[in-house]
Amino acid sequence: MHVLISGAGIGGLAAALALLRRGIDVTVFEQAAALREVGAGVQISPNGTRVLEALGLGSRMRELGTATSGKEVRLWNTGQTWRTMDLGAATTAQYGAPYLTFHRADLHSMLLDAVTQQKPDAVRLGAKGVGFTQNGATVSLRLASGEEVSGDALVGADGVHSTIRQQLFGSDRPVFTGCMAWRGLIPEDALPETINRTGGVSWLGPTAHILTYPVRQGKLLNFIGMVDRDDWRVESWSAAGSVDECAADFVGWHDDVQRMVRGIGIPFKWALIVREALPRWSIGRVTLLGDACHSTLPFLGQGANMSIEDGYVLADCVAEARDDSAAAFARYEDLRKERTKKIVDMAAAQTGKVHNPALAVPKQAEEHIAAHWTRQHVGDRYDWIYRYDATAAARAPVESSLAL
Ligand SMILES: Cc1cc2nc3c(=O)[nH]c(=O)nc-3n(C[C@H](O)[C@H](O)[C@H](O)COP(=O)(O)OP(=O)(O)OC[C@H]3O[C@@H](n4cnc5c(N)ncnc54)[C@H](O)[C@@H]3O)c2cc1C
Repeated sequence: MHVLISGAGIGGLAAALALLRRGIDVTVFEQAAALREVGAGVQISPNGTRVLEALGLGSRMRELGTATSGKEVRLWNTGQTWRTMDLGAATTAQYGAPYLTFHRADLHSMLLDAVTQQKPDAVRLGAKGVGFTQNGATVSLRLASGEEVSGDALVGADGVHSTIRQQLFGSDRPVFTGCMAWRGLIPEDALPETINRTGGVSWLGPTAHILTYPVRQGKLLNFIGMVDRDDWRVESWSAAGSVDECAADFVGWHDDVQRMVRGIGIPFKWALIVREALPRWSIGRVTLLGDACHSTLPFLGQGANMSIEDGYVLADCVAEARDDSAAAFARYEDLRKERTKKIVDMAAAQTGKVHNPALAVPKQAEEHIAAHWTRQHVGDRYDWIYRYDATAAARAPVESSLAL
């Protein structure tokens, strides 16, 4: 069995590693000439670290990841603070896996190193997939160079603008949310003393909210500021803006916020887009994974986690069905579609909780916090997400795979 994977992002590499660990050959085709993850953070919750652990990356992820102490919310103007969740040892004990934050480059290179240790030439760079053909026996991926590569199955892990998805199901219909995100990294020496450097903080405001958390053991603070603004519609990871433009979106916010924004080297900007859930992910020997089939708003921090889960479940299904990739992919879809849709829908529904006009008025702001941000609310929101065990999903009946 030889599985072709288009895209060496977090999801493509997680799938490659999970397949190789089961003795299934893979080749990953990546359009970029060099693998360089963007400078930003990513949170991997217990549902994701559980998979990394099962892939043999337990000690490496603990070295590279930062164990965050907890989550809190703060009010945009006064800075009033509410603790919403304890993480660290409490989470690890509760879920049997830690909650870790990473610099994306560290998570990505950890996966890449593990893949190339298993198979040194597993990843081909400068290899853009532009289309495929399949028949009853094989599938061929066509590269931009004109080369055709054949295998037994093809996985489109080529991100939100997936070429493989477009060929499978046609063009999608992206809908702009009216919101854009700033993201950047702030060095610890540029942070005000009053900033929480050990946990995740959501600053909630009337027309914007900010999420910060430490990466690289607190040497950097990851900053994502999501703002109601309809003049930026480019869905890109690498479009740079300026500190002044970013600061203009947070005029009137607490001084800590002003100082954080001033500490960002280069703030990048990215339009928040939603897409309808795909009714199917696979046709025959070809399937999709990660953002290619269920891109999400970042409000629950689950995009990368879901792509890691996908990779593991997909590998289990392929290993089980071996020569019948169509059956493997049908099972994989059954196991994964409902959960991923629920998370994507829930992330979209978070919008009114994270920023809301009520937060402009002090009394209403307190009511809003009491209605949506108590420990109980936040615990309930995340508990079913964190409890899910992708390493057991393929062994469980489909109906119960949603919240194992
Ligand atoms: C600001 C921000 C913050 C986020 N924070 C979190 C978080 O805290 N936690 C979390 O779980 N998720 C988070 N996410 C979401 C997460 O980053 C994505 O869901 C995740 O990266 C998806 O992984 P992927 O492998 O499916 O796609 P990608 O990471 O997009 O990887 C796709 C890969 O395919 C390659 N590619 C594309 N087209 C082709 C082609 N034609 N041929 C070959 N290769 C191709 C690309 O170059 C890329 O390497 C965040 C996202 C954003 C934007």
